[in-house]
Amino acid sequence: MVDYVVYGRGSFDQLDEILTPHRQGGKPIIFLVDHFFEGKPLVERVPQKGKDKIIFADVTYEPKTTYVDSISNQLKEEFGTVSGVIGIGGGSTMDLAKAVGLMMNNPGSSADYQGWDLVKHRGVYKAGIPTLSGTGAEVSRTTVLTGPTKKLGMNSDFTPFDQIILDPQLTANVPANQRFYTGMDCYIHCIESLEGTYLNEFSKSYGEKALELCRKVFVEKDKWDEESDDQLMMASYAGGMSIAYSQVGVAHAVSYGLSYLLGTKHGIGNCIVMNHLEEYYPEGVKEFKYMVEKNNIIIPEGICKGLSDEQFDAMINVSLGMKPLWENALGKDWEKIITREKLRKLYEKL
Ligand code: NAD
Ligand code: ZN
Repeated sequence: MVDYVVYGRGSFDQLDEILTPHRQGGKPIIFLVDHFFEGKPLVERVPQKGKDKIIFADVTYEPKTTYVDSISNQLKEEFGTVSGVIGIGGGSTMDLAKAVGLMMNNPGSSADYQGWDLVKHRGVYKAGIPTLSGTGAEVSRTTVLTGPTKKLGMNSDFTPFDQIILDPQLTANVPANQRFYTGMDCYIHCIESLEGTYLNEFSKSYGEKALELCRKVFVEKDKWDEESDDQLMMASYAGGMSIAYSQVGVAHAVSYGLSYLLGTKHGIGNCIVMNHLEEYYPEGVKEFKYMVEKNNIIIPEGICKGLSDEQFDAMINVSLGMKPLWENALGKDWEKIITREKLRKLYEKL
């Protein structure tokens, strides 16, 4: 779990005070900032001192192991080691920061650590500051990376941030489409967790709260306001806590295949899949469709048109490789329920 959490409008300005005890001698703090903020006023508020460095994270594509390696190798060459890595941005930037923070103290490539509990050494101090709400990357024990052979996180007890700052003001100007796609990541985490076989009281308590907050902003309200930003940020946190002790399900398992083959982004990919999952989550999909309509969002269709058999097979392989997700969704006998043929039909519908 994350050790320290600060929440509140304007709390970003406590960053300097928060970082001071973690500065080790002359070793710099590295701020990995979502490239969206380049030239924007937020950069002026980053408390840079001495040899500290801002690196703008290019999140045109979701994080790759090669990108993590290039940043961490560059930092090792330039500074040897650093006092800490601070991720300021959406899920992609936060995941990059977690991975770079870990790689500063671990040898080899981040691809060597894609899996469960493979990370050997605690990373450097890591803090996360979300500027988009929904992924739960701020609280999770993974950092999702696309590597040479798989799309899989560095899941470990060393992965969570040491500190997070939840300042809903930072999400004030997110475009409505992006806000919806990333917000739906949270909604889908809740449905998959609450409808899953891994469910327990811990996950349920957080999942129900997150779902209630998602409904407040996407179902009940007619207009987005400041309170909506506050609520979605807490939904993201609680949704992340919910899956920390359970697992995601069908939408994520299928969406990982899209992302691996087509580069479809996580939030929108989940939405594209969720749109066709009536068989697995009938109530959730009905409500999802209502929210799509109410919020005037367009969910792309036909993205798998014209793909070859090999391409379908590649997606099916990635998806069926996500065993815990399928087991959570469908139970121990999941392999009898979701056959390759059935999954192919589902991909064809997308
Ligand atoms: P993102 O981080 O990829 O960002 C999406 C877009 O929004 C980018 O163009 C970015 O520049 C922009 N953006 C960020 N903040 C903004 C702001 N305040 N205003 C305007 N634009 C802004 O999107 P995301 O949905 O937050 O994250 C998706 C990533 O998170 C994927 O890589 C996914 O694998 C990962 N993820 C991780 C976990 C985890 O537990 N570690 C969970 C879910 C998803
Ligand atoms: Zn997700």
